[in-house]
Amino acid sequence: MFDTVLIANRGEIALRILRACRDLGLKTVAVHSDVDADLRHVALADQSICIGPASSSASYLNGAEIVLAAQLTGAGAIHPGYGFLSENADFAASVEAAGLTFIGPPSAAIRRMGDKIAAKRAMMEAGVPCVPGSDGVVPADGNAIRDLGAQVGFPLMVKAAGGGGGRGMRVVRNPDELLEAVATTREEAGRAFRNPDVYMERFLARPRHIEIQVLADQHGSAVWLGERDCSMQRRHQKIIEEAPAPGLDRGVVERVGELCAGACRTIGYTGAGTFEFLYEDGAFFFIEMNTRVQVEHPVTELVTGLDIVREQIQIAQGKPLSLRQADVVLRGHAIECRVNAEHPFTFTPAPGRVERWTPPGGPGIRVESHLYSGYVVPPHYDSLVAKLLSHGATRDEAVARMAGALSEIETAGLVTNVPLHRLLLNEAGFVAGGFDIHHLERLIAGGLIHEGGER
Ligand code: ADP
Repeated sequence: MFDTVLIANRGEIALRILRACRDLGLKTVAVHSDVDADLRHVALADQSICIGPASSSASYLNGAEIVLAAQLTGAGAIHPGYGFLSENADFAASVEAAGLTFIGPPSAAIRRMGDKIAAKRAMMEAGVPCVPGSDGVVPADGNAIRDLGAQVGFPLMVKAAGGGGGRGMRVVRNPDELLEAVATTREEAGRAFRNPDVYMERFLARPRHIEIQVLADQHGSAVWLGERDCSMQRRHQKIIEEAPAPGLDRGVVERVGELCAGACRTIGYTGAGTFEFLYEDGAFFFIEMNTRVQVEHPVTELVTGLDIVREQIQIAQGKPLSLRQADVVLRGHAIECRVNAEHPFTFTPAPGRVERWTPPGGPGIRVESHLYSGYVVPPHYDSLVAKLLSHGATRDEAVARMAGALSEIETAGLVTNVPLHRLLLNEAGFVAGGFDIHHLERLIAGGLIHEGGER
């Protein structure tokens, strides 16, 4: 059993993991790049160690160096957070091979679910509904590709088996574009993900993005913790998430949730995980699984009262889940706004110094952030600097509290997308709830979201 956890990440999630460890009486080791020595969690950790230069590939993605750091500092476990090495099966396997605990699922489960074609196959076997498509790798032969395209129907999506982060996807509107789209996506996927396999999926026109959070222990128990609606997106990147998803038939959600928990048992999945679905016309279609903690996990924590990161750590310690499905009770409504250091209307990254950081507060408000006055956001990493969360008895109350928090928050000196969030919180479609994944793009195209648009 480990008593020290190495945190293989940075920013807000590193701080979140540190706090969960502290609550459990575990010691922490922070690893950081040479531009990240000033991070909040580095100051708070029991030990810290610089693992390389700013470039992620030489630091946060350098698995060998991170395992070495764990061995040097006596850490018995590694928490990967999200992004970076969190879904890298080779890294998880190297942690296991070093005799350390990877706080996440077994490397074999990451490998299987990381290949989206294999993941869809596993889900179909477990009875989880998937987006209709090629059910396997698109073949090499041109005629076979055309036949497959005709079977799936247009418009369709060509997707990379190894894709992630919204990359490696292409919409094909008619048969004439198919061969070129397959060739280009293959080529890109080979370069970006070192796996040129692609598959086809029917392109859903107006889906919502709804995902199911699960927890599974090493003793065969699995629970699902309700759903999150992550439909407010730009370029497949989530901007606002909420739980529960407005207007869904609870019976339908429950059936899908049970299937997800069941799938964890069939595929030997352990730890925290998320099944991502597109939802259209009352039906759920599985698209992929995230085998790690997600950015938006606190939304679920607010409505369930659970600590998902703590559960992750305890599962890795071999402990049984602290609750059964009947103990999962959803209370009220929660919303998360992702605050990014980027221009609110052009979306260009805007790293820099935050002269004065004043987080909001009050009933039902939670802030997850590594910011402090004088902190300099470096240009090398993801632009997420804070997650603002609100919880209320009803969605209206959660919206009102979020609007209040957005009016309080101050990031003097730093350009952020807070003005965008202020606009969205007042926007009729958001206020009504239940919008689809193209909602924000439509607002942008319609000129409703633009510079000077804020009152
Ligand atoms: P990634 O792993 O890169 O996040 P996903 O498969 O989860 O890729 O898809 C990301 C986003 O792309 C979804 O949230 C949705 O907005 C869009 N998308 C994916 N598949 C489809 C589809 N079949 N039809 C319509 N939109 C899709």
